[in-house]
Amino acid sequence: MPDLTDILILLALNLLLWTPLLILKHPIFIVTERLPRLRGDFPAGVSWLFLVFVRKGFDSAELRRHEEVHFRQWRRYSPLVMGALYLGSSLYWLIRTRSLWGAYWHNRFEVEARKAP
Ligand SMILES: [Zn+2]
Repeated sequence: MPDLTDILILLALNLLLWTPLLILKHPIFIVTERLPRLRGDFPAGVSWLFLVFVRKGFDSAELRRHEEVHFRQWRRYSPLVMGALYLGSSLYWLIRTRSLWGAYWHNRFEVEARKAP
C-alpha cells in the first residue's frame, strides 16, 4: 500500500517529466537503426514523452504527423495519466481481440494519431 510519501514522489516525478512537454512545441525526433522490431518493420516510430525514435529509412512527413499527435497526447494527459490510459486501452483491446496487433491497432490513442491529416 503506497503511503503519502510514495504518492508525492510519483506526482513530483510526473511533474518533472511533464515540464519538457509543456515547454517544447514539438517532440525531439531521433532517427536510429537501433529500434527493436516487433513485426516486420513495425514499429517505424516510438513516441515516449517528448522523444520520438524513428527507424532509419522510415522517416516521413506522415510518420512525423502521427508522432506529433502522440506528443500532444503526452502533453494533454501528463506522463503518468497518459501511460496509464494507453496501457488501459491496450489491455482492453488485447482482451477483446486476443492479439497484440489488435491491442495496438485499436488503441484509442493510435486511432486518434492515425487520423492526423
Ligand atoms: Zn502511434
